[in-house]
Amino acid sequence: MSITGKTTVCVLLGDPVAHSASPRMQNAAFAALGLDWVYIPWAVRPKALPEALGALRGIENFGGANVTIPHKEAALEAMDELNSEALSIGAVNTIVPREGVLVGHNTDGEGFVTSLREEAGEDPRGKRVGLVGTGGGAKAVAYALARAAVAELCLFSRSEDRARSVLSHLRNLSRNIEVLALGLQQIQPDRLRRMDILINATPVGMEPSDPPLFDYGVLPDHLLVCDLIYRPPETPLLASARMRGCRILNGAGMLLYQGVRAFELWTGQKAPVLAMRQALTRGGEEALTGSGIGPV
Ligand code: NAP
Repeated sequence: MSITGKTTVCVLLGDPVAHSASPRMQNAAFAALGLDWVYIPWAVRPKALPEALGALRGIENFGGANVTIPHKEAALEAMDELNSEALSIGAVNTIVPREGVLVGHNTDGEGFVTSLREEAGEDPRGKRVGLVGTGGGAKAVAYALARAAVAELCLFSRSEDRARSVLSHLRNLSRNIEVLALGLQQIQPDRLRRMDILINATPVGMEPSDPPLFDYGVLPDHLLVCDLIYRPPETPLLASARMRGCRILNGAGMLLYQGVRAFELWTGQKAPVLAMRQALTRGGEEALTGSGIGPV
């Protein structure tokens, strides 16, 4: 990679950013298409975020940005315009400059749904889905699933109030979906038997010592079980699901496809998905689908 006076610069704003896989993935994509673009991680403390975002407006060769933890909600406030996903979710993970204004997008949910289709071969249309968690990732996935016309979405949360608030937003978005808000203790065998897809959108399972969200021994084998977590590639939930004969999908595909969409928004070009996937695999972000390691 050679940086010149004409290089277009994209940045990642987060705190921390040291372990992010996005620079590897996006720089591989720029190189694969021979673009004179570069992607740089910026560690930005929360109090400095408004200034950092403000400065981007004045930079002529700014190509776009990703926003990650803990800035996704705060970044929303600083945008000049928002697309409908970012507005519905209340968080921005991708910024696109357009004639001096900053437009906030959220590609996380679309990333998950594309991963569901491409990695697991599952069309969410008409499916009954259980979603655990009501944070930023869960909301992005919930709105994308609503747009993809699932039949039923059951939100499980340790905070039923938060689940009910997401539920009322979803009902405004689509009248055709059955939406329920329930506590974690209501993840029971009879309810799981009536579902097609179960998704963990909490951080539970990132550490081996995390207590399970529910009794994973009751997972019925017809379920597709998904985890937004990609490190480790197989969480205890996914390991139990695989052992019980379920199909499984980890978060590596979501990571890949949210980045694919961001790349296309910035450059206006079709993303080189294979190069991006290979860059993630080199860094240990393995796509885990079916009952084994996927074709990465
Ligand atoms: P977040 O906004 O902090 O939300 C976390 C959610 O998990 C909240 O609903 C929280 O409940 C719930 N939760 C936390 N600990 C819990 C526990 N012990 N038991 C039950 N619920 C618990 O986080 P996020 O951004 O949504 O991220 C969630 C996970 O998704 C993380 O592991 C993240 O790495 C992953 N993720 C992956 C991708 C990807 O590209 N693959 C993208 C986004 C996120 P309360 O509201 O009650 O605290």
